[in-house]
Amino acid sequence: RRAQYAALKHRPAITRDGVEITLLHNSGLVADLPMLDETGAEGVGLFRTELQFMIASKLPRLGEQVSLYREAMRLVGDRPIVFRLLDIGGDKVIPYLRAQHEENPAMGFRSLRLALERPGLLRTQIRALLMAAEGRPLRILVPMVTEAAEFRQTRREVKKEIERLRRAGEKVPESVALGAMVEVPSLLFELDRVLPEADFVSIGSNDLIMFLTAADRANPRVSKSYDPIGLPRLRALKLVVDAARKHNVPITMCGELAGRPMEALALMAIGMTRLSMSPPSIGPIKEMVLGVDLAPIQHAVGEALAEGAEEVPIRSLLQDWADRQK
Ligand code: PEP
Ligand code: MG
Repeated sequence: RRAQYAALKHRPAITRDGVEITLLHNSGLVADLPMLDETGAEGVGLFRTELQFMIASKLPRLGEQVSLYREAMRLVGDRPIVFRLLDIGGDKVIPYLRAQHEENPAMGFRSLRLALERPGLLRTQIRALLMAAEGRPLRILVPMVTEAAEFRQTRREVKKEIERLRRAGEKVPESVALGAMVEVPSLLFELDRVLPEADFVSIGSNDLIMFLTAADRANPRVSKSYDPIGLPRLRALKLVVDAARKHNVPITMCGELAGRPMEALALMAIGMTRLSMSPPSIGPIKEMVLGVDLAPIQHAVGEALAEGAEEVPIRSLLQDWADRQK
């Protein structure tokens, strides 16, 4: 199988009926990045910057952050890489950062909330990213955005750091694209505010589905009870895809769903064309993409999602299609 996938690496991911799908890596370690040459993925859709913080024994200094980001950019070369701002808390624990006990850490003082309330860490990280870009374009993704106002506030912090560097006579990136993660359900109801301000968006299905179903992503006892491509979840995802298209904002899926063939097919059926996943999933997903005639599946899934439609589980609909291919 590995050899089979390796043989696909130079083939663009295009469905039989000509829909181009962009396949990207999720990553967080520079050691992973050379794998781009093995998988043939187009870039890094999600670089989890908290990993450097999680494996360190104390807070990485500005210089250490700059070197990591610089090395990451060097390794990806001309391919794009999206750096996500620190997403600490919840399941991502930083042992040396003293945190107060919380009953519900997934819904606690974490990620962007922590970053905006204690902006020291955030400012240092933004500065490190700006410096590492050395004049080249930079893409920054903001995690756990709950309201459009938080995204706006983050943008102000980025602007301030750019100004600071300019005043200090340092090089600033050629462009800075700022994207919002859609992973807190509240933001689904403010897409009309956040999309016009975002240069791109990325759906974090791991958290979004956890919060939509109120089922802990780390607790299989409950998380397995709800099919992520079951009707209510897929409708929610489609809402985001449709809104992004309406506002002409590029959208990527970077949760684990994107790396599972049946789920990725469901995402393509609702119009998602950019999928970011862990590197070993690229081969299987590309194989699926190359074999599919998307239009009829889009049609069938569209009908199943419509209001008042007869109840057909989306998964069995896709499974029937897959069985017919054999
Ligand atoms: C997600 O929530 O789907 C996501 C991509 O981010 P993480 O898994 O790092 O929370
Ligand atoms: Mg997340």
